[in-house]
Amino acid sequence: MFETLSDRLTSVFTSLRGKGRLSEEDINSTAREIRLALLEADVALPVVRDFIARVKERARGEEVSRALNPAQQVIKIVNEELVEILGGETREIRFATKAPPTVIMLAGLQGTGKTTLAGKLGMWLAGERNTPLLVAADLQRPNAVTQLQVVGERASVPVFAPQPGNGVGDPVEVARESVEHARRNNHNVVIIDTAGRLGVDSEMMQQAADIRDAVEPNEILFVVDAMIGQDAVNTAQAFLDGVGYDAVALTKLDGDARGGAALSIRHVTDRPIMFASTGEKLEDFDLFHPDRMASRILD
Ligand code: GDP
Repeated sequence: MFETLSDRLTSVFTSLRGKGRLSEEDINSTAREIRLALLEADVALPVVRDFIARVKERARGEEVSRALNPAQQVIKIVNEELVEILGGETREIRFATKAPPTVIMLAGLQGTGKTTLAGKLGMWLAGERNTPLLVAADLQRPNAVTQLQVVGERASVPVFAPQPGNGVGDPVEVARESVEHARRNNHNVVIIDTAGRLGVDSEMMQQAADIRDAVEPNEILFVVDAMIGQDAVNTAQAFLDGVGYDAVALTKLDGDARGGAALSIRHVTDRPIMFASTGEKLEDFDLFHPDRMASRILD
């Protein structure tokens, strides 16, 4: 991931080496090069504009530091601005303090890696001394329930699925029942996998909104495939309007050489990226760390 951007930025910085002081022309041409690098990485245009404006302003105004040469100063500014655009601080889960369970609802298009993410998140939470429960509230696809059960088994996390007595055919009822079940069985976190479609449609949004209203999640996570590039931003906006969410989980970061979605989504949605999924294995998952991601880009 980010290979192209990383290479492009490295060559921008290399061309600044050996300069004693940055002229206005140096700053402008550097800004132009960074702009092209970001656009090539598929970063959304408004995000690029904002980023470049800030880098330019800071490069002009930066105190001349004796410890850093101009190239190092530009790297420092770009690094700090990348961290900022990626969200600054790592965002942790807000657990229910008064009445457990903490309810985490996953929403997103089909094929984004939602079900896989439910398993990853469950396993990760169990490793942090939680007692999670996965909930199969995706009743749209015939296979979805079985798929979550398989993932749950691999992750060693129990799965609540519809059966006679707990909301067969009705995802809202399944979600509601699952919270009761968790309360009775001491699961402190409930992770609800909801239905996705191949494209955004109003029925899917309504169903997700109904589940949201029924269980009042502590966190709604929008799960989005980083490989879909600019489309990630459009889908993110559609889900923000249709369901609303607190944070984003980016999947398939391992497959995206450009990284534009990761760099755009925070700025466009004003929601933090909370988790990063970087492979098909259950272990390929972690909290999203903006500073580490920025370092990787500038490596
Ligand atoms: P859902 O339809 O949103 O529930 O998506 P799934 O969880 O079924 O995942 C769809 C496909 O993407 C599966 O083949 C997963 O193995 C794969 N997948 C999920 N997450 C990742 C990831 O982070 N990286 C890669 N490379 N593949 C992933």
